[in-house]
Amino acid sequence: MLSIPEDKINEVRDRASIVSIISHYVNLKKAGINYKGLCPFHSEKTPSFVVSEAKKIYHCFGCGKGGNVFTFLMEHAKLSFPETVQKLALDLGIYLPQKPLTGHQQETKQKKELFYKLNKSALFFFEAQLKKNQRACAFLKKRGMSLQTIEKYHLGYAPNSWDELFKFFKSKGVSSKDMSEIGLARFRDRIIFPLFDLSQRVLGFGGRSLEESSPPKYLNSSESLIYNKGEELYGLSSALSEIGKKGVILVEGYFDCLTLHQAGFKNAVATMGTALTPRHVEILKRFTDQFYVLFDGDDAGKQAAERSLPIFLQKGILPKIIELDQAKDPDEYLQKMGKEKFPQKIKSASSLLTFVQERIISRSQNLSSYKTKVIEAMSLYLKDISGIEQEEAIKKLADRLQIEEKWILKSLQEGGIQDQKKGNWKEALSSEYSAIELELIEFFVLFPLWLAQIQSQKVLDLLENLEIKDVFLALINQYAQKQTIDFSLVLEKIESLRLRDRLTRGVLEKENQGRSEQEWKSIYEECMKRLQKKYLENMEKQLLSQIQALEKSGEKSEIDQEVLKKDLLRQYQNVVKQKMGFNA
Ligand SMILES: [Zn+2]
Repeated sequence: MLSIPEDKINEVRDRASIVSIISHYVNLKKAGINYKGLCPFHSEKTPSFVVSEAKKIYHCFGCGKGGNVFTFLMEHAKLSFPETVQKLALDLGIYLPQKPLTGHQQETKQKKELFYKLNKSALFFFEAQLKKNQRACAFLKKRGMSLQTIEKYHLGYAPNSWDELFKFFKSKGVSSKDMSEIGLARFRDRIIFPLFDLSQRVLGFGGRSLEESSPPKYLNSSESLIYNKGEELYGLSSALSEIGKKGVILVEGYFDCLTLHQAGFKNAVATMGTALTPRHVEILKRFTDQFYVLFDGDDAGKQAAERSLPIFLQKGILPKIIELDQAKDPDEYLQKMGKEKFPQKIKSASSLLTFVQERIISRSQNLSSYKTKVIEAMSLYLKDISGIEQEEAIKKLADRLQIEEKWILKSLQEGGIQDQKKGNWKEALSSEYSAIELELIEFFVLFPLWLAQIQSQKVLDLLENLEIKDVFLALINQYAQKQTIDFSLVLEKIESLRLRDRLTRGVLEKENQGRSEQEWKSIYEECMKRLQKKYLENMEKQLLSQIQALEKSGEKSEIDQEVLKKDLLRQYQNVVKQKMGFNA
């Protein structure tokens, strides 16, 4: 990993024009003091993507995404943070000194580069072998693969003997140790599907046996420095731009994925023949939150779909399922029904949760007290859903079983006690931001001078949300250093994407309303008052319960109790008096 000095990062951020950089990707037009264009993160017909050169931020009023020039390139061009800084520095002509790598890092880096090189050579070899082998070509043709697809996705063939690849590598001076480490010897008489990363480097291969009689049907490269099983998704590098717009279709096999791409549904990826892992969902979640599963129509496929549900739910995703009616796989479906019908199929996809619910019901229907059993089984899923979605799912299940919702809620509560201990609920609550607290931050971004007029510790006490407290502290510190606020720099320090999105929206909205500073000031003062009032109300409650607790307990000596009680009462009266001031 490279490490770039902080002052260089700041220089890049300061000198980069967010409007001209985003213009490479989005057609921006001047609109008032800002720029507007069609959002690159969701598909839309009227522009709601706003870029502010002055504030060095962007926000989409359609899908809610917001950030600065770094987050834009990271999310849109899929670059890592160091890559983003490097790219911009290069464009701006800023020299970046780099820390030298340690001996071990150097070794790993060289090894990785060697593996990429070996895989690339192997790719050429497999591709050339395919052209020479009629049986393999015929097999691909039978599976409906066009010549363009074969070329574009670099499909290949591994001959029946390991000899030829061995000779091929030997002629290139590769040692047999390196050859065995990357595990290419396993592929014999197989169709080869290379797996590319987002920079089009070959990470590894998948192989499909040509003869049903030589199992296993599917085989992947062995784990290596550059290939992690359970993390790779076939087709991702080609599917990426479509996934951002249309969501992702998850399929099981290479051919399913290629068939869909070939038919124009380029947002499909395959799990390389392994079961779905949480890591897969995490990777895809960076690009979309709309997931469709499309597994084989047989019982194994349905089981795989059911097993994937908890993995999605734990990652906060409610996926849909595309059911294939009578077809056994996507290929057969497209052949029978034609690709014209498929978009409608996607549109009418139902919730995977409902699909699983129906499977559980049909499994349990003949058992005694089957409704209880269904509720118990479904509670395991429902507990991982939150908010309105959970409420709706509970209602759906209650309707389906013709029972009252309270029975499901009861089962959830019983199971929920353990969850509560883990702190899940608390976490969920703290991520709700109060509108007043958000507004206060927005005011300080727009009018940094006001920061000089407050007592920061007092304001800090008024804020309840820990993340917002952090943002406030960042503002205070920055103002103390620079006597101004660079909001795009503060944004980078905010870990929660939701908070980042909310604040970019608030700042741009306020800026756009065209009120005078004086008008804003009176709104700001009103905000402060409301925060103070809320703070006093909380204090009042706290003190009151402390006083009551003191009256009940007899642990402390009489005198101590009296002193403490007097003190609490004085504080309490003080709070009540301050509160009266507000109501006057
Ligand atoms: Zn958008």
